Amino acid sequence: MLPENGKFEKPALPYAPDALAPVLGAETIEFHWGKHFQAYVDNLNAALPGSPFEGKSLEEIVAKAEGGLFNNAGQTLNHAMYFLQFRAPREGNAPEGKIAGAIARDFGSFEKFQAEFQAKGAGLFGSGWVWLSADAEGKLKITQEANAGNPVRSGLVPLLTFDVWEHAYYIDWRNRRPAYLEALWKIVDWSVVEARYAARG
Ligand code: MN
Repeated sequence: MLPENGKFEKPALPYAPDALAPVLGAETIEFHWGKHFQAYVDNLNAALPGSPFEGKSLEEIVAKAEGGLFNNAGQTLNHAMYFLQFRAPREGNAPEGKIAGAIARDFGSFEKFQAEFQAKGAGLFGSGWVWLSADAEGKLKITQEANAGNPVRSGLVPLLTFDVWEHAYYIDWRNRRPAYLEALWKIVDWSVVEARYAARG
C-alpha cells in the first residue's frame, strides 16, 4: 500500500457494516474499523512528514521502522489485512484450492490447523495478533505477534490474521476470546487468503 498525496487511507470495507453479524456486529465495525483503525492511520500520517519513511510503502515502513512509527504502521497494515479477509458468515466455511492443499500438507488437516491457530490466539498474553504466513519456500507457519507485530518483520509473507486485542471482541463476545476466535472461522474469505498465497514473491 502506497500513500496518496503523502497520506495513507483505510481501504473501503468490501461488505456492509452489519454483514458479518452475529460473529462481528455493526457496533464492532463502527468502533473497531471506524475508530480504532482510523486512529492508527491518523497517527501514522501525523508521524510521517520529515521521517526517513516519507513516501515509502506501508509494507516497507512496517518491515523497517521502530517506535511509534512502527506501532502505527503495523496496526494500519494489520487492520487492513484483517478487515479485508472477511465475508458474510457461512456454515462449514473452509479453504479451497492451493491454500487448502498447503494447510493439509503442513498441519495434517484443516481441523488441526484451526486447533493450533486458535490455541496460539487464545494463549497470547496481552494484546497482539495470531498469523498464518508462508516462508520463502511456501511452507506455512503459525506465529504469535505482540502488540503491532507483523510477520513481514521476520521475512514471512502474511496470509491470514486474527486480532486478539480486547477491542476486537469485547462488544460481541465480552471477555470470551476463545469463543470469538472460534466464531471467526465462519467469516474468513478464503479466496482472499488464496490470493495472498498466490501473490507471494
Ligand atoms: Mn484491532
